[in-house]
Amino acid sequence: MSDAAVSVREIGKRFGETEALANISFDVSHGELFGLVGPDGAGKSTLFRILTTLLVPDAGSATVLGLDVIRDLWAIRSRVGYMPGRFSLYGDLTVAENLSFFAAVFGTTVKEGYGLISPIYKQIEPFAGRRADALSGGMKQKLALSCALVHRPEILFLDEPTTGVDAVSRRELWDQLGTLRDSGLTIVVSTAYMDEAIRCDRVALVQGGRILQIAPPMDIGPQYPLPLVDVVGPDRYRLLLALRKAPHVHSAYPFGTGLHVTDDRKGHDPQTVAAELSNYLDSQGFSGFDVNPIAAGIEDSFMELMPALQRAS
Ligand code: ADP
Repeated sequence: MSDAAVSVREIGKRFGETEALANISFDVSHGELFGLVGPDGAGKSTLFRILTTLLVPDAGSATVLGLDVIRDLWAIRSRVGYMPGRFSLYGDLTVAENLSFFAAVFGTTVKEGYGLISPIYKQIEPFAGRRADALSGGMKQKLALSCALVHRPEILFLDEPTTGVDAVSRRELWDQLGTLRDSGLTIVVSTAYMDEAIRCDRVALVQGGRILQIAPPMDIGPQYPLPLVDVVGPDRYRLLLALRKAPHVHSAYPFGTGLHVTDDRKGHDPQTVAAELSNYLDSQGFSGFDVNPIAAGIEDSFMELMPALQRAS
């Protein structure tokens, strides 16, 4: 038995030719907000389905709240909340009916769970009589989260909860997750958005069914190995193509309003790299651009780690 809220050891899962998960291991502590961060097809949903006992792994073992995901599936199901990637709501039931249904499935009532869900549910309660199908993306998300919490689980699994919702609802959801974590709930959440990853206590960067790195988000940028500069200027696409051909450029990719460029000379002074790139762009006839050294963020680390992994797999 493990002290961790979630303990995953060398989990593997194949779907025919596709290796959805390969030798995945990690622990999540009690009360942690843990992020699985990776692009579409990385294996995040497969991992959630294994941890919520809906799918049996081919290899390895995992425990949730000290319970084995294969042997103890019924005990796990009553103690976890799960919000799957695609909304799990019943579209032809009303908001209130959906909530009552999920409470009943777990042998409880909305009244008993109300204390926990009320900060979220209050926002959609005025629409209690509306069919779930007729809700906006943000409201559906709040209802789905209320349904996942109504039986007062000890751990919450959220699979890409912000897909298909507007920016304001995204922020609100993450505020709510922060509050839930502060109240002691363990949360495992997946996202493809780096601005959300920043809000986790720790993240696992996942790609191609493998974990690239596990660390607090703030520690991922500083481990970045190469000098990095930000290039801003007109005619961004032409600028990008030119930068990719510049001497010593390891990678160049669009980022925000500018372009991030890495230099292949590890440990080289970023100021010198910026000056050299400026001279290069001058020599190629570009003008009105700005080149500045910057500290790497989690997105940069992900961009750097991904190609290495693709080569390895
Ligand atoms: P993510 O949630 O990160 O987008 P998934 O876990 O859904 O990733 O998928 C990982 C890989 O496994 C993908 O290549 C996907 O196509 C494949 N996959 C997932 N579920 C199935 C399934 N039921 N049958 C066949 N392939 C699947």
